[in-house]
Amino acid sequence: PYDVLVVGGGPAGAAAAIYAARKGIRTGVVAERFGGQVADTMAIENFISVKATDGPKLVAGLEQHVLDYDVDLMKTQKAVRLEKKEFVEVELENGAVLKSKTVILATGARWREMNVPGEQEYRGKGVAYCPHCDGPLFKGKKTAVIGGGNSGIEAAIDLAGIVEHVTVLEFGDTLRADEVLVRKAESLANVTIIKEAMTTEVIGDGERVIGLKYTDRKNDESHLVDVAGIFVQIGLVPNSEFLQDTLALSNRGEIVINAHGETSIPGVFAAGDVTTTPYKQIIISMGSGATAALGAFDYLIRN
Ligand code: FAD
Repeated sequence: PYDVLVVGGGPAGAAAAIYAARKGIRTGVVAERFGGQVADTMAIENFISVKATDGPKLVAGLEQHVLDYDVDLMKTQKAVRLEKKEFVEVELENGAVLKSKTVILATGARWREMNVPGEQEYRGKGVAYCPHCDGPLFKGKKTAVIGGGNSGIEAAIDLAGIVEHVTVLEFGDTLRADEVLVRKAESLANVTIIKEAMTTEVIGDGERVIGLKYTDRKNDESHLVDVAGIFVQIGLVPNSEFLQDTLALSNRGEIVINAHGETSIPGVFAAGDVTTTPYKQIIISMGSGATAALGAFDYLIRN
């Protein structure tokens, strides 16, 4: 068996693998798609000590760094089941079962998409999902935020300080965000909130986003909003479906962990966007991968 088996090959999984391998213990990584969300990212300007990079470059760096150590890297392999017996067993989609003394779950998350025409075509060309990451790219421009929950209203407040104007489009007839956030957003001169608005299309000029269309659900009228950026804030979905009946998940499906990265199963740790750790960012998921690996090592020397 492995000493540490990491499930996931994003920044959290890569950091966990490197920290584990540096302890000289038998380490494996299974990843459906090495690089994770970073592989879909254009500009990265908040990875501290690297002023600017892009997703593919950072993914290549992650892989090189992992392979610098004695790590079994199993790419394009998907875990479908986890079970604790004598060892922790991880079953792959191809039927193989891997055994390990400890497992670190770092399967990440995915943004919920609007599923409207233009969204895919203009992803990274005006359609964005992370205001902390991409907000500054829209400095002085008009933007929209889709979704009036906490993340949408926080995004609007955040963007209002950078961009020219923010239009928030909420599908329902009330905002689901906390009252204090709603009051703050409503007090900002360059934020407009539109309720009962169903986004129907992302409009571009072939190169970049130039607007969006929405339908006013009160009267079925269609409207065009002129924006350069659209921040989709309708939820982050953790990749934890295969763990549903296995370990403790939050009501949003995130793996519940403590400060040592421990889950509800002894010997099973978790890190990154798939967990209850607040603020989903590359640097944060790497830190939590390191924490989980050190937690697993601690577990191994005590058991
Ligand atoms: P992920 O990156 O999601 O990686 C999960 C890994 O697990 C992948 O390898 C995946 O294939 C694998 N996996 C999933 N399920 C299974 C399974 N069942 N079996 C095996 N493997 C599985 N953050 C920043 O700090 N700065 C930015 O500029 C930035 N820009 C972003 C732009 C975009 C478009 C997106 C989508 C995100 C951006 N983020 C940015 C957020 C950042 O990418 C994430 O916080 C970070 O990648 C999370 O790392 P992770 O390792 O936890 O998960």
